[in-house]
Amino acid sequence: MKQENDKPIATALPTRLSHMGKSPAFAGGSAVNPPIVRASTVVFDDTAHQRDMRARRGKERIFSYGARGTPTSFALEDAVSELEGAYRTRLLPTGLAAIGMTLLSYLKPGDHVLLSDSAYQPVRHITEQFLRPYGIEFSFFAADGSDAEARMQPNTRMVYAECPGSLVYEMCDLPALCAMAHARGAMVAVDNTWGSGVQYRPLALGADVSVMAATKYLSGHSDVMMGTVATTEAMWEPLAERCDAFGMTVSPDDAWLVLRGLRTLSARLKVHEQHALEVAEWLGKQPSVRTVFCPALPTHPGYHIWLRDCDGTNGLVSFELPVNTPADKVDLLIDSLQLFGLGASWGGYESLVTPAAMTQARSVTDWSARGPVIRLHIGLEDPNDLIADLAQAFAGAQLAE
Ligand SMILES: *Cc1c(COP(=O)(O)O)cnc(C)c1O
Repeated sequence: MKQENDKPIATALPTRLSHMGKSPAFAGGSAVNPPIVRASTVVFDDTAHQRDMRARRGKERIFSYGARGTPTSFALEDAVSELEGAYRTRLLPTGLAAIGMTLLSYLKPGDHVLLSDSAYQPVRHITEQFLRPYGIEFSFFAADGSDAEARMQPNTRMVYAECPGSLVYEMCDLPALCAMAHARGAMVAVDNTWGSGVQYRPLALGADVSVMAATKYLSGHSDVMMGTVATTEAMWEPLAERCDAFGMTVSPDDAWLVLRGLRTLSARLKVHEQHALEVAEWLGKQPSVRTVFCPALPTHPGYHIWLRDCDGTNGLVSFELPVNTPADKVDLLIDSLQLFGLGASWGGYESLVTPAAMTQARSVTDWSARGPVIRLHIGLEDPNDLIADLAQAFAGAQLAE
């Protein structure tokens, strides 16, 4: 079976079509970037080779079938493992799928999972759509972690944190949370999308599993969906087995796009951070802004934990308007912005704005007495242009002080 090109047996065109063009023989060096390897079927030299590869692919990284990954996705898995300081990584079609597979891989009926109140809001949908019907108990703890220990149950198998939290970036003391959970026999999984493995590294702080939406900063260009789950060695097998069981895989083209985005990750983040801090400073001076949310601001409640555990901030900045700001003024402010796209997600090179429905996004912390919150993602544009755009939108909306 090995010598595809030397075989003179096939002559009819339909037969030749499946044998031609297999061997890209050329002299020279190699491409800087890993090639896209697209594959469903992977062919073996002989039956002994096939048997050997199948026997080993559970434990080892073996190219054996497209659903189990290709050299392109393996390259990205290795890069993410290095970023996260992980044993190994699995790639999933979206960040949300990565969160779902994490819950599915480590929890079974009768278990309890304690989730952060600051979790990415669609996680609440997973609790209702999957955990509840499948008999997995869940409850939420305050985003700063202050009540986590009191909320632990004898059957708590997982503490699921997101730090900094979605929308307003609450910080929890992750090393303390991990120590508490481990002492009670629970594992810790963290949504690390904010930190992107650059500004925050949950596994180094004691977590067992770190999840990222590579859709955001890793890809960095708002044109690909992907999730990653990186684990310690002890936590690897349940995840790998469940992902294989369900045929979870990603397209090699998408893996290639994320790999390409990843090359500029830290350079982009430095610029996002610098621009976001400039915008945050400007927002802080506006009479109609009650609070600016960004963990790198000394006024942020989690500032000291951020200073200790993070290596910087990113392009995300949110702000609170005065209580009782009419909804149409919030809409007017958002709709007046010319350089900010109105849309969900973030992490691309471009600036975005979106209203943040805090009362729906939190259940432990009561937000009903607070003003409307707007989230900005500050992109790579000139921050002076962004500030000028914000200034004209604020002026037009004529908000109260
Ligand atoms: C966007 C996001 C996700 C989900 O990622 P998708 O790829 O859009 O499914 C998960 N967690 C956080 C914190 C996010 O911001």
